Amino acid sequence: MNSSLLLLEETIHFPVSEAVQPLFIGVHYGGRYVKVGIVDSEGQTISYFTTSGCGEQNPKLEMKRIAELINYAVSKTGIDFDSIQRVGLCFPGSMNPKTEKLYRPSNLPNWYDFPIVSELNAAIGRDITVFCNDANAAAFAEYWIGAAKEMQSAALIFLGNGIGCGMVIDGDELIGANGFGGEFGHIIIDSSPFARWCSCMKQGHLEAYASSPAVARRTRELLEVGVGSSLADRVTERTPLNEIPRMVYEEADKGDKLANQIVCDTAKYIGLGIVMLTHTIDPECVLIGGEMMFGGKGSKVGEMFLDEIRNEVSKRGMADLTKLFKIDFAKLGSYACYIGSAGLAREESLLFS
Ligand SMILES: [Zn+2]
Repeated sequence: MNSSLLLLEETIHFPVSEAVQPLFIGVHYGGRYVKVGIVDSEGQTISYFTTSGCGEQNPKLEMKRIAELINYAVSKTGIDFDSIQRVGLCFPGSMNPKTEKLYRPSNLPNWYDFPIVSELNAAIGRDITVFCNDANAAAFAEYWIGAAKEMQSAALIFLGNGIGCGMVIDGDELIGANGFGGEFGHIIIDSSPFARWCSCMKQGHLEAYASSPAVARRTRELLEVGVGSSLADRVTERTPLNEIPRMVYEEADKGDKLANQIVCDTAKYIGLGIVMLTHTIDPECVLIGGEMMFGGKGSKVGEMFLDEIRNEVSKRGMADLTKLFKIDFAKLGSYACYIGSAGLAREESLLFS
């Protein structure tokens, strides 16, 4: 293997002889990391490899690194590349399904209009790449083998630097005519002229209120006006925005009133969004995943966050509808994206078989 690929993790879960054929590769490209999993036809991960990403400035080079990791994974797992039916590649952005070029992924200017599918195909020397948006991949994984298994429709809301959303409706991934099918983070929850500005440069979008940086900004604002809180000892001018939601969670867990209020307010915004989402697509469940889950399932603050979301939804949604679907945390965590990419690659191969 080329020394430029420093492996962060390498795990073989079980021998290929026990796998259900055919096999698929799921790739999760996250900017700071690349994850590759070899997944069988039932969604079981045979082997899993990760390395750091370092080519945000050079997407072509990054495709070569992904291909290198794929080749390494195939060889370490002891399989022939010909036994791989498709490679699913998920990316934090949308692609124009007609031109197969990326749109303008926020914070990645060098990737604008990048022909991601043909470039990965060229790097691996095979025409087998299937593109998916990362939130769609994660939603599909939850539907395939995770928290929405046995259901026909599910939406996954991804809380992190932005707010992503993946949807599976009647067993199919929702992409949309132009690849914008899950832009839930940009629905309008505040139409006033003073509404907060979103990262997409429009006002009043959900992401401007409930993404990780938005929670950090709201926290700073409350501390600046002098609301008493143990957070005041931790959040300084130099605290990076992406560290503040974790501090909010930790102080909420210790009982700080303001921190708890920030978690509840965030839940209310998410709840508003879910009401609009369910009134539009009527899924069997809505799952909450991503980096910002305030402790997640089983934690005191995480469960309160979820309960507040549920309360807001039942308060504002149509009664007959809101009692029929469940809201829960996603199950597969950081593995969801590569598993779902492999699953969507499998769906595509079934279409052509
Ligand atoms: Zn927006």
